Amino acid sequence: MQIYGKFYQKSWDERMKQIIQSESLNTVQTQLLRDSAVNKSLGDTMIENYITDYHFPEGIAFHYLINNKDYIVPMVTEEPSVVAASSHGAAIIAKAGGFFAKSSERMMIGQIILEEVTDVKKTSEELKSLEKVLLEIANKAHPSLKKRGGGAKWLRVRILDYDLISVDIAIDVQEAMGANMINTMLEAVALNIKNKLQQVILMSILSNYATECIAKASCKIPFELLSKDNVSGKSIAQKIAQASRIAQLDVYRATTHNKGIMNGIDAVVMATGNDWRAIESGAHAYAARNGRYKGLSSWSVDDNYLSGEIELPLPIGFVGGSIGIVPLVKVNQKLMNVESANELENVIVSVGLAQNLAALLALVTDGIQKGHMKLQLKSLVTAAGAKDTEKEEIIKYMLAEGKRDLASAKTILAGIRKRGKNDGH
Ligand code: NDP
Repeated sequence: MQIYGKFYQKSWDERMKQIIQSESLNTVQTQLLRDSAVNKSLGDTMIENYITDYHFPEGIAFHYLINNKDYIVPMVTEEPSVVAASSHGAAIIAKAGGFFAKSSERMMIGQIILEEVTDVKKTSEELKSLEKVLLEIANKAHPSLKKRGGGAKWLRVRILDYDLISVDIAIDVQEAMGANMINTMLEAVALNIKNKLQQVILMSILSNYATECIAKASCKIPFELLSKDNVSGKSIAQKIAQASRIAQLDVYRATTHNKGIMNGIDAVVMATGNDWRAIESGAHAYAARNGRYKGLSSWSVDDNYLSGEIELPLPIGFVGGSIGIVPLVKVNQKLMNVESANELENVIVSVGLAQNLAALLALVTDGIQKGHMKLQLKSLVTAAGAKDTEKEEIIKYMLAEGKRDLASAKTILAGIRKRGKNDGH
């Protein structure tokens, strides 16, 4: 696409005009871009070169009983079955008394990286002796955080190599995720280190490895709640524990185990206006914290119960970033009836555990495809070009014939339309 001039300086109308002039889209496609642009001023505020709004579906998961409080959970996702699985896992856990969830204080680590350090040991000692001064400088750079009871709390110095040092500052971010606030604070401290110690600063940025912002959830499920068809709950519980064991031993399985957990977590993170890349990167790094990548949750059995637990960093925000400006985020916070970042963390970590239970339950019993199939077929027939009125009939044929592919969906659709014509419809 040939674009003339600086796209970012153009108005939305001018950007559309350029796209039309480039002839890379037909009129129907251009109209779709236009019609999807429902909040131009918000889009232009949030990102650069805005052209339209890309919509994701939002659904609600039910049956969440967490620390004796009932929740409904808005989830934003493009993947079929995630919402249903979430409600299914949560319902089983609710019958067992619900989730017990807790989250730590909300500290984030910011890093100032010093390079070309000639004597890392000496510089490290100097930096440590400056802790009080440097924390004060950090807090002065964003004073409102300290006024709220948060702010820079401690500092540590790590020697990364013979010439590299990381100054880590732990900052209590209160109700925000904190990235922007931390970065401002770090830059002020970095400037001081540069001037006072004549050191070269390579970069100053928060770390997404949020080891000081951890959320945990657990549950204990009596075997009888897990029985299915003619299989005993105890046998299913043992298979779930075995599946969990494999996720601790094998990175191939652990990655998929965690993907299932993140199906739920990301969906709520998105619905609540949070940065899912930050949560994803932190979660996967945490999964490898002991030197090998492992499942973030684990399940075990005793005489009568299947017990599950999950633990991961959840540096989400309840204010700040896009949270205050995307109107639906406020609606979702209201729907959930959460009042703080800690409470939201408790819900999100519980969703991860419910999602994991539902996935493992399906895997060790029916297999994952059975539950997924109806929704997957819906997506497939949509991709085949079926109208709403045609979808049910095609799905019925596909189920009857055991077909699960796009080519079959297209063939069946063509057959139905041909028959419709012959019938005079
Ligand atoms: P903001 O820059 O919006 O800062 C938080 C805002 O919330 C501040 O303006 C603060 O007000 C206000 N606030 C109101 N009440 C509270 C409270 N009780 N506790 C804390 N803050 C409060 O957002 P963040 O600093 O949280 O940064 C998050 C954004 O940064 C996300 O959008 C993320 O995508 C992005 N980001 C992420 C990076 C990463 O993950 N590596 C890197 C860079 C950006 P006041 O000013 O009065 O203190």
